[in-house]
Amino acid sequence: MSVHDATTKAALPAEAKNQFLHDAAEHVRDIDHRSFVRKALGGYYVTRDSQKAKYRDWEHARDAAALAKWSAVNRLDELLPLFVTNFEAGGGIVHFARDAQEARTIIVDLVRASNAKAIIKSKCMTTEEIHLNDALEKEGYVVVESDLGEFIQQLRGEPPYHFVFPCMHVRRGEISDLFQKHLGTEPTQSPEELTMIARRYMRQLYVDADVGITGANFLVAETGQISITENEGNARLTAALPRVHIALSGIEKVVASLADLAVLLPMLATAGTGQPMTCYNTLYSGPQKNDEPDGPREMHLVLLDNARTAILADPEQRDSLHCIRCGACLNVCPIFKNVGGFTYGTTYQGPIGSVITPHLRGLSDWNHLSSASSLCGACTDACPVRIDIHHHLLHNRRNAVRASPKRLEHIGHQLFAFVAARPWLFAAGGKLFRWSLGFLKKIRPPLLRQWLETRDLPPAPPKSFRQLWKERS
Ligand code: SF4
Repeated sequence: MSVHDATTKAALPAEAKNQFLHDAAEHVRDIDHRSFVRKALGGYYVTRDSQKAKYRDWEHARDAAALAKWSAVNRLDELLPLFVTNFEAGGGIVHFARDAQEARTIIVDLVRASNAKAIIKSKCMTTEEIHLNDALEKEGYVVVESDLGEFIQQLRGEPPYHFVFPCMHVRRGEISDLFQKHLGTEPTQSPEELTMIARRYMRQLYVDADVGITGANFLVAETGQISITENEGNARLTAALPRVHIALSGIEKVVASLADLAVLLPMLATAGTGQPMTCYNTLYSGPQKNDEPDGPREMHLVLLDNARTAILADPEQRDSLHCIRCGACLNVCPIFKNVGGFTYGTTYQGPIGSVITPHLRGLSDWNHLSSASSLCGACTDACPVRIDIHHHLLHNRRNAVRASPKRLEHIGHQLFAFVAARPWLFAAGGKLFRWSLGFLKKIRPPLLRQWLETRDLPPAPPKSFRQLWKERS
């Protein structure tokens, strides 16, 4: 099974909700998985917080980052053409893709036209979004992931578990076994040795590759440059060594200026991985020039819409396009930490994935994700560009109810409104409810038995809030 089969299988719309409920129930019961994920994220909180403390004013920096993205997204009609003009002036070629299918066709045609035999690819969630590897593999091409985490996931036949830490759920011993099986190496528990094994394996692949495929973290309009930020240096080699470089990016990645980029890059690193800056930050300005010793001979950029303009047209949720894919909202989300990354069945997991997936893939099939939240607001607090994530989840819930109102739920709400508008009835209802809490606990009716298996009903308070309020005042 290829990496992308797993994503596609998990994302069959008709089954998406049932699959989510099934997998969530399984993972919530898996104490080992939960504690492993919590442990993996434990280090993240420490480094992120110590890095945040080095900012003179983290909240002020968030304001600046939010403003940079807000002004770029709200001026997209002006900045995107400016970026394209400047990028093409540097010798790059831009292709526009309305949807995933069009983007796949463009990239497959480019690969075919280049007579490529080998393709190397760096980490790029937009390629996951359009299932690019599937399309290339169907045409007979072998695509090798050069990012260590993505490479491990490719060998495991799994999609990324988390869009920043793709293999955070995999233990060292499992990686060693994987390398032993696929690369014939000796077992080791040393992270350095495991990294060196992948590095040695990759080196020749970079040299042999005809086409390198990357994503883009930002597109700088004033200079026409593509900014890629990474920790391994693999994206640099992927972009620079093959004779053809193809980058894929969503149209929302545009920022106005290098000054805005200087605000966003450290914010992305600190919120995403707790670093002051990621190790390698590169600006790509086009293919090799006559006076340059190296670089690709052709450079293409595929700009993907895929429902982004529909989100742009929605003033309520437009700011979800500000996302810089740092992953911080996943790291703090109590739902993500309990159900894990695969349960979502989506390219983008966690709170921001639950906000944008219904837009990318259809509200009716993916509206259940809006309920995969306790609405605690931890995601909104963690977001370096101040996206109001948990309110967007509420908006999606409201839209889902409006699109297909549930009769029973509607009757329930009407009944509640009727009772709540009559104080004497509300007080009587409260009394009845307090009495029935103890009763339900005792008889455990079959309808609630499964629900009560994992929950304890609290003892009913002897007095209502209204009674207490009356007594105190
Ligand atoms: S929504 Fe905010 S916190 Fe979540 S990935 Fe995007 S930028 Fe990061």
